[in-house]
Amino acid sequence: MTPLGRLLLRQIAAQGPLSVAEYMATCLLHPEHGYYTTHDPLGGTGDFITAPEISQVFGELIGLCLAQAWLDRGAPSPFVLAELGPGRGTLMADALRATRDVPGFHAAMQVHLVELSPVLRAAQADRLAGFAPRWHDSVADLPDLPLFLIANEFLDALPVRQFLRDGAAWRERVIGMRDDTLAFGLTDPTQPAALTPRLANTRDGDMVETCAPAVALAQHVGGRITAQGGVALFIDYGSAQSLGDTFQAVHHHRKVPPLHLPGQCDLTAHVAFAPLAEAAECAATLTDQGAFLERLGSGPRHGALARGKTEAQIETLIAAHRRLTHPTEMGQLFKVLALFCDNGPAPAGTKA
Ligand code: SAH
Repeated sequence: MTPLGRLLLRQIAAQGPLSVAEYMATCLLHPEHGYYTTHDPLGGTGDFITAPEISQVFGELIGLCLAQAWLDRGAPSPFVLAELGPGRGTLMADALRATRDVPGFHAAMQVHLVELSPVLRAAQADRLAGFAPRWHDSVADLPDLPLFLIANEFLDALPVRQFLRDGAAWRERVIGMRDDTLAFGLTDPTQPAALTPRLANTRDGDMVETCAPAVALAQHVGGRITAQGGVALFIDYGSAQSLGDTFQAVHHHRKVPPLHLPGQCDLTAHVAFAPLAEAAECAATLTDQGAFLERLGSGPRHGALARGKTEAQIETLIAAHRRLTHPTEMGQLFKVLALFCDNGPAPAGTKA
């Protein structure tokens, strides 16, 4: 048992079981033992690898997509270029390099990063020195300016609650204690009003997940975009509606049971995008990552990078393009939710 595991067992003994969301939030962000508080989870020696770490083209195309959206909306100045959960700062660094020559873009932008992990804030400061980024704990702290925002694999880290359908009611999945270890259990049936619409599209025994922090975030960002103008791209794995148990733990690139090693594994759940688009109350599109990147030119850009390279380097570039876009790899599981104000077209790549 990890130190955080022992702490959670004591807390459960004193106060009763935790919701999956409480467990997830504590494991990821506990000030002393949390996974993100204490680790750099990314890359070959970490626990998982993300799109910007697979290929520089990912951040480049997102940077250009946001710059085009900025031009389409009259090139407002000043504006906020924001990223939520920037990891090592790779995506933002690639986006900034790719947009260097967009006239006026860098002169008008303020770079703002929302990040809680001190370890990752330090990596971002290193990577983005020269762009004077400012850090915040929450998106609510961003200045009131036109907003051009990217969040890649951020929403999947936000805590979900899980509910198992039982007739016309729901039992919440909780984490309690059995034989001195953490164990899943279920509450008595309840009828949360928020789940009533799901009775129409689920069956007895189905599990659904809700992510209140993601819904609140979408509502907040949608409100800003409506009031101040702008575009937000949320990229993550998931589907329109939640169905089934997607709560998972990853440790050194392998799936492990989510109650093992609390504080030492990455815990995530798939993102349900439809409730986010609805909460944002602005224009929204949902596009497969593969289609999005192909339309923005992932193939030709990887091809250009391959010129003059060794055979091994070319193989790596082909594999990277394939991994990001192919339907059996990240191309279909990952989706791009674009939220945008309607004084400009949908962001490039998000519509056929
Ligand atoms: N976007 C990066 C990193 C993804 S990992 C990439 O694609 O490589 C998730 C990121 O979100 C990390 O930077 C993590 O520290 C941050 N994070 C997770 N939960 C957060 C929260 N509640 N508030 C702010 N940042 C958070």
